Amino acid sequence: MLRLQDTMTGEKRPLETQEENLAKVYICGPTVYDYAHLGHARCFIVYDVLVRHLRASGMAVEYVRNITDVNDKILGRAIENGETPTELAERMTEAFWEDMKRLRNLKPDTEPKVSEHIDGIVSMIETLIEKEHAYEADGDVYFAVRSMEGYGKLSRRQLDDNEAGASGRLDEEHAKRKKDPADFALWKGNPEDEWGWQSPWGYGRPGWHIECSVMSTQHLGETLDLHGGGLDLVFPHHENEIAQSECATGCTFSNHWMHNGFVEVNKEKMGKSLGNFFTARELFEKHEPEGIRLWTMTVHYRSPLNLDWEEGETPADNRFPSLEEAERRVAYLYATRERLGAIPPKRLIDGGEPPADKLSGFPAALKAALDDDLNMPKGLAAMQEFLKEVNELCDRAQGKKGRVAKKAIAAAHAGFVALDAELGLGGQDPSAFLTRVRDRRAKAAGVLPADVEQKIADRVAARQNKDFEAADAIRNELAAKGVELHDGPEGTTWTMG
Ligand SMILES: [Zn+2]
Repeated sequence: MLRLQDTMTGEKRPLETQEENLAKVYICGPTVYDYAHLGHARCFIVYDVLVRHLRASGMAVEYVRNITDVNDKILGRAIENGETPTELAERMTEAFWEDMKRLRNLKPDTEPKVSEHIDGIVSMIETLIEKEHAYEADGDVYFAVRSMEGYGKLSRRQLDDNEAGASGRLDEEHAKRKKDPADFALWKGNPEDEWGWQSPWGYGRPGWHIECSVMSTQHLGETLDLHGGGLDLVFPHHENEIAQSECATGCTFSNHWMHNGFVEVNKEKMGKSLGNFFTARELFEKHEPEGIRLWTMTVHYRSPLNLDWEEGETPADNRFPSLEEAERRVAYLYATRERLGAIPPKRLIDGGEPPADKLSGFPAALKAALDDDLNMPKGLAAMQEFLKEVNELCDRAQGKKGRVAKKAIAAAHAGFVALDAELGLGGQDPSAFLTRVRDRRAKAAGVLPADVEQKIADRVAARQNKDFEAADAIRNELAAKGVELHDGPEGTTWTMG
């Protein structure tokens, strides 16, 4: 059974769902004013693995992740760009979906957009006003935090801690309308020539937090089994979602709270103003997205994840050793899968020894690692043992008169199926993956694939003429450039060392 750290109780405890075998999961999605950065990539991979793991364990999951397409940042950026906020939000939503797909994140079952839930937002605000948890002030509506007993229970904050933070973020004109500095906006009035919607309190836009209370209730019901997001959302976003939802419905908002850690660059906070900020697609230029995916799994999801960065003269010269290493690990995974697939059927026998534990026990080992608060680094360690074992199996099959048991091969295949189902690793076409990695490395080393193919052809010709000296010279010339040749029954292939 899956045990997860719960931010609300501060304890690791079983994920108990309301309905047996169904998990209702809501994850706070992106604000679509710019491309997804590395922090987004990490966050959404974490919850993708959660959902995959639940499904692999036989559970049905209703997975909802919203798109925040109404927000002041979107308006600000759209004005800078000279486009409408809707155009910008749509463009960035498409880009986000593309990036998530390349990272091999499953599409959520529902991806509600704020712009399509304004009616629901208005009606929840009306309920909160009726129940005297919110008040109207000059075209704005605020949530009265002191009307709720237990406000601050998720972040363990006292109300007095909030005041400075909350009032600092709002512009002064709006802040003056609040009865208490700790109150937060549910609706903000704005001039009719600005982006907005009509409401019972006049023209305006919703505050930031109300959207998730409304969309989660509408798509999953009043009580969620699990709500998740980045650590930065604990306060104020999730705290305020709890306040709105629990005061509106009278029900517990979520039975479990999950938060993932930040991404750092060279052990410092990543930020645009700090000049150490990377979008996912910028890194896709240099590394396979699946390498980036594996890299995010190398530390526990609650710990900070550090990207080491060797800054080059130009962005093209930037190096990321931890991403290089992660990509090598994914390449090893695909090379192993390719070797397994290449074992000729005539080498397989019925019966034989039972498969090694590290082979047949891998799916269970991976499941056990993930059941323990989604321990992905432990899962990767089990994967490494498994791959080593598969390679040994391939070595045996390739040896002279080598024979391997069919059930060992079946166990190896089952391991790869589990790996893709649980972690979303290794599910692409191996040869296409390996060729892309090879060609990208070749390009970086100034090697043209067409030239290598030509040299291979020249070498074949030299060997046919029994000019072994010339053939060896070609091999050495290529090796000096990092090109390794592999002679096999079906000709010569090459990799970049
Ligand atoms: Zn949210």
